[in-house]
Amino acid sequence: RTRIAVQGLMKTYNTGSGEFVAVDNVSFEVGEGEFVALLGPSGCGKSTILNMVAGLLPRSGGRILIDGDAVETGKVNPRVGYVFQRDTLFPWRTVEQNIGYGLEIAGVSKPERAARVADAVGKAGLIGFGRSFPRMLSGGMRQRVALMRTLILEPEILLMDEPFGALDTHTKLEMHKTLLEIWERERQTVLFVTHDLGEALTLASRIILLSARPGRLKDDFEVSFSRP
Ligand code: ADP
Ligand code: ADP
Repeated sequence: RTRIAVQGLMKTYNTGSGEFVAVDNVSFEVGEGEFVALLGPSGCGKSTILNMVAGLLPRSGGRILIDGDAVETGKVNPRVGYVFQRDTLFPWRTVEQNIGYGLEIAGVSKPERAARVADAVGKAGLIGFGRSFPRMLSGGMRQRVALMRTLILEPEILLMDEPFGALDTHTKLEMHKTLLEIWERERQTVLFVTHDLGEALTLASRIILLSARPGRLKDDFEVSFSRP
């Protein structure tokens, strides 16, 4: 079953010196339970595509369907979760309060929230840090909090924009392990953006390549396997 369908997607930015085509007729699909990487060099249009899939950025053309429904810019889809690249935690809230934020907004009762937050803190390997504030944590721990803040809402579709880009290699590998453990249990449909081939190979079940020429799929690339 197709969960995300991107059809003839276009994005043009108006710059001082005219129009810049950042996404040029991109089409792809993501099926139920797939873990798809959108891989390409910096500046090739990955974030732009993901933000349009998330409904955070208006399209210049084309269509995006999630479960067959057209994505409307600015409308939140409760089945979709988004993990941002940058540190977006609330500095004045503790780890528990950050992770529970979405549940609080959704009006989930305090006892249920506490139980689900405690479970999420455990899954993220943050036991003992529930009452800490973000500034007391390492970058990797903060990104775990950001990940759990999204996953606790149990999104069926998970979008992530270079979620581990700012982490050191060791922390990044730990995060990959945590995320894959969660995905193997829950099999969310994942679409994530990265410029890191190693990361794409580690995490993804399928890779969609973008060309260095901005906004184009790289459809002239072939991987071949040969046996000695
Ligand atoms: P990536 O995520 O692959 O690094 P982006 O989607 O962020 O690429 O950007 C694609 C291209 O569009 C880049 O050349 C970038 O400079 C340009 N771009 C992104 N946002 C804007 C904007 N708001 N105005 C003008 N150009 C932009
Ligand atoms: P990314 O790391 O995802 O490629 P950047 O750090 O390049 O994103 O861009 C951060 C923000 O700046 C984004 O909101 C993007 O839309 C905007 N931006 C990127 N390039 C340009 C540009 N050439 N002109 C205006 N805004 C831009």
